[in-house]
Amino acid sequence: MKAVAVFPKGREVKVIDAPEPRLRSPTQVRVRTLEVGVCGTDKEVVQFKHGEPPQGEDHLILGHECLGEVVEVGEQVKGLAPGDLVVPRVRRPCPVRECTPCQAGYSDFCVTGKYTERGIQGAHGFAAELFLEDAQWLHKVPHALRGVAVLTEPLTIAEKALREVAHVQSRMPWTRKDSGRAVVLGAGPVGLLGAMALMRAGFQTTMYSRSPKPNPKAELSESLGVPYVSSKENKVEALVRQRGRADVVYEAAGVASAAFALMPGLAPNGVFILTGVPGSQEEELDEGELMKQLVMKNQVVLGTVNAAAEDFEAAVKDLEGFGKKWPGGLERIITARHPPEAYAEVVLGDKSSAIKDVIVFSPG
Ligand code: BGC
Repeated sequence: MKAVAVFPKGREVKVIDAPEPRLRSPTQVRVRTLEVGVCGTDKEVVQFKHGEPPQGEDHLILGHECLGEVVEVGEQVKGLAPGDLVVPRVRRPCPVRECTPCQAGYSDFCVTGKYTERGIQGAHGFAAELFLEDAQWLHKVPHALRGVAVLTEPLTIAEKALREVAHVQSRMPWTRKDSGRAVVLGAGPVGLLGAMALMRAGFQTTMYSRSPKPNPKAELSESLGVPYVSSKENKVEALVRQRGRADVVYEAAGVASAAFALMPGLAPNGVFILTGVPGSQEEELDEGELMKQLVMKNQVVLGTVNAAAEDFEAAVKDLEGFGKKWPGGLERIITARHPPEAYAEVVLGDKSSAIKDVIVFSPG
């Protein structure tokens, strides 16, 4: 079968002919890949800055944002049948028994770092015509979401972050009249999906992103009811003047200098969420001022990675809700679909489109 793999030694990304997987245990499911999304993490993997092949292998099959269709289920699998649409989770727990989060089903909080991630870290991904997965890692998706469910995984990042924000903000023992204001930094797919999730949660949300208007991301953002402010044209002070300070900042740009420049835009008692993993850069930071602000304003800086089962369930539910609230909005995030042969050029930028690129493995 066709698969897209990266070979770190030879520094190559190419379509390979991989063996077709067959069920090996009664709890496994054989899935036909329909679509795989491409994101910044894939770029890092392809550039050999992040991730590694499974132990003892010279290549890693890519792809962690996936929508598939069940083709075969093991005898002990309940609740899934051929023809069902599924989205797999990404991270698998580490083998260390003392790792409480992994043992408790929250490998997204793994403390040993010995977890594996399909398509990223030590485990083959879903950028192949077929894959095998234990049923416990699969989430069933309604057929009505066929066109957009490849966005489930990037939406889980926001679902987990919002779940954490709710916990963190319960530190304040009073009830607010409203959810407050949010600013999303970066209008890529993670930022746009984050903005939708923040709107759903009742936040008055603003998009703050580099490119001046007009541009496709700004148009989509504003069509969702999220005003777009260009950081190239408006310094943080101007943003604050126009939109007020934010109770929640949702960073989705992966650029440390842009993230920390936005710190003064955080309201007292606010939470600053970091989701992007920046490449190495020299940063200039006034640590004294930052520390003073965090202390004097009771603020929280919260890093978040990966997501748990409940975040996938929440994401599937939200995709249905978003489809009703913003008809056609999710579809507009996916700006191009490509064949597997285009993977390398898409991930490295030569063939990438305005917002989200998706690789099609089977028309379904
Ligand atoms: C994925 C996460 C993963 C992280 C770090 C992100 O792109 O969405 O599932 O944990 O990369 O590898």
